Amino acid sequence: MKKQKLVVLTGAGISAESGLKTFRDSDGLWEGYNIEDVATFDAWKRNPAMVQEFYNQRRKAILEAKPNAAHIALAKLENDFDVHIITQNIDDLHERAGSKKVLHLHGEIKKSQSTANSKLIYDMEGWELKMGEKCELGSQLRPFIVWFGEAVPKIEEAAEIVVRADVFIVVGTSLVVYPAAGLVNYVAKKVPIYIVDPGEPTVTNSERIIFIQQKATIGIRKLMDDYLLV
Ligand code: NAD
Repeated sequence: MKKQKLVVLTGAGISAESGLKTFRDSDGLWEGYNIEDVATFDAWKRNPAMVQEFYNQRRKAILEAKPNAAHIALAKLENDFDVHIITQNIDDLHERAGSKKVLHLHGEIKKSQSTANSKLIYDMEGWELKMGEKCELGSQLRPFIVWFGEAVPKIEEAAEIVVRADVFIVVGTSLVVYPAAGLVNYVAKKVPIYIVDPGEPTVTNSERIIFIQQKATIGIRKLMDDYLLV
């Protein structure tokens, strides 16, 4: 029998229990930085060394972090469902937990990108990307991150996956960063939407939304036991 297509949109909250901080939970700061100072192209133009260092530190923390029970549970759901993860996260914890189909909307911290041609993307070794490290065209390498204000090239691919979902799950995202947050609008009518988040619900205007107000590790377990694997 064909497996049901289960599409999961994840955000920083799913990696919180792996020790990686979200930023909305700390007054709009991410690891003590204003987002505008580190996660915009203007910031890079103003002070590339500082932006590079910020992402070097994030890369270091991500390399040291491990997938938690929530990442692992989603990977195991592949036994029963055709699981597609669409993540806003730049970490690789879904992949390390074993998920096979992971689409990164906002880039991947373990890759670098040419500043001359955005299509030139390179796998990185280790945590540090240095000023002076250049792409094959001779221009400085930047972290492969989609910054605020930049286009999100994978959004159409993501929307096409969401349109075909039989079940849609949202885990650990404040659903305020667009266009990612708009993906919810592509879910077909009658498809159930489950939201797992310990915070207050941001989307409540629909009867088909089932809100599980729990941290990811507990909430996904509950979602599996009470709804998906019954
Ligand atoms: P966000 O910080 O805006 O929202 C985090 C959400 O997670 C909140 O709704 C919060 O209530 C919830 N949350 C907190 N702890 C949780 C837990 N234990 N389990 C489940 N949910 C929990 O993050 P966002 O919506 O992902 O959007 C912001 C952007 O931040 C993304 O673009 C992402 O690239 C970037 N970011 C990524 C990482 C990462 O890769 N690990 C970390 C921080 C920020």
